[in-house]
Amino acid sequence: MIDVPNPVDGSVVGQVEHHSEFEVRAAIDRTCAAFPAWSRLLAKQRSDILRKWFDLVSADKRAFAELMCRENGKCLTEALGEIEYGLGFVEWYAEEAKRVYGDTIPTHAQGAAVIVTKEPVGPVASITPWNFPFMMITRKVATALAAGCTIIIKPAEETPLTAYKLLEYARRAGIPEGVFEMVTGDPVLIGKLITSDARIKKISFTGSTVVGKLLARQSSDTLKKMTMELGGNAPFIVFDDSDIEQAAKGLVAAKLRNSGQVCISPNRVYVQSSIHDRFVQRVKELVEEIPVDQGLQERFVVGPLINAKAVSKVTELVDDARANGANVVLGGHLHAKGGLFYAPTILTEVTDAMQIQSTEIFGPVFPVYRFETEMEVIARANDTEYGLVAYAYTRDLGRAFRLSRNIESGMVILNSGSVGTASVPFGGVKQSGYGREGSYYGIEEYVQVKYTLMAGLD
Ligand code: NAP
Repeated sequence: MIDVPNPVDGSVVGQVEHHSEFEVRAAIDRTCAAFPAWSRLLAKQRSDILRKWFDLVSADKRAFAELMCRENGKCLTEALGEIEYGLGFVEWYAEEAKRVYGDTIPTHAQGAAVIVTKEPVGPVASITPWNFPFMMITRKVATALAAGCTIIIKPAEETPLTAYKLLEYARRAGIPEGVFEMVTGDPVLIGKLITSDARIKKISFTGSTVVGKLLARQSSDTLKKMTMELGGNAPFIVFDDSDIEQAAKGLVAAKLRNSGQVCISPNRVYVQSSIHDRFVQRVKELVEEIPVDQGLQERFVVGPLINAKAVSKVTELVDDARANGANVVLGGHLHAKGGLFYAPTILTEVTDAMQIQSTEIFGPVFPVYRFETEMEVIARANDTEYGLVAYAYTRDLGRAFRLSRNIESGMVILNSGSVGTASVPFGGVKQSGYGREGSYYGIEEYVQVKYTLMAGLD
């Protein structure tokens, strides 16, 4: 068995099985065996089952939220928000299942018809991270099942309990064994077994760029379709023509979500020189109003980091910035609560030469950089190997268009700190990956296009 600790105090929240190679192979076999029957169900039948899953989980949101707080450390408010977000995918894809339309193309030959259909790619596998224990599962499972694929999931070792609870509710909703399977255990072994199995036609991975590349390499022999939702290094740009109050609020909400442990968390805050001090002061006031505490309570709090490795990484990045001349405006150390709590930290006079500029922080740290011109900040925003999301605040319409066009990232968010919902295409470019999740683009990742020529009709 694998113990699942509470990041707040290390107490054991629950246990999951450490599946053996034999058990993982058997689960893959079940996923593959279930595909023909599931893919042949009417779209409406798959839709109804997904809707049932949505209804059952919706009736028990509080239980899911409390479990998520305990295994992940995020606060109840955030956990409930994640559940709304995650259930949105089940609802959306229950509907979208019925709209996987094909095409007819004007024929190129007399007495012939050209038909294009979309078919499920086959059995798929997914590996997910710990930072969104609920939404990561629903986003992948709902899309796969809607398209007619069966799916096997390996959730993160830190947060498998929410994933198994979702599986339990899926069974109750009528999603049979094989159609949705789950395995836990040695990630390296599970990764090898699913990537090397030619019957698995697609991998949807969310996690670090390093592991994503490894899985892509391992999958090359079996040539799988892949979706890669990887790391980020999001710029958050504040121009002097923006609504400073809204920009400060948008930044604090986006940054402190999940204690900064989010792939789309603002990682580099660029503030135009003329408003720099005023903006930093307002951000500081807003951050100081938010308590740092364990999350099982009815208010927004900044929780602990996920594990000791995460705390070391944040500490190292902040110490490096300080040693190289950054000014610590707030925090800069472990929080007095001890354990895995890190104090929300604001750094100014950060430069592009510091380690923190090129590294995904994954903690409650705001590194603030000064900039002068639009051209300069666009170049600096693009000066990263990642390209997941970029945020900018401006009231200049022309500038907003130029930012949308010139920033190299899968998502550009203007005048808001909020990115995700089920109806938009989420995903990155460059080392942040490829493929999209959510919206009608998301289901395209789980289907293949078939062209049929019907000749001799006259
Ligand atoms: P990670 O170390 O890559 O782990 C993610 C998943 O991969 C976990 O289930 C992990 O299993 C598994 N894994 C690790 N090594 C493996 C291997 N050799 N073969 C197969 N599977 C393996 O990432 P993380 O630290 O959990 O998550 C943080 C990262 O995810 C950040 O870079 C973040 O930006 C990224 N992320 C991206 C998105 C997005 O949508 N773009 C969303 C959220 C997070 P174990 O847990 O058992 O080790």
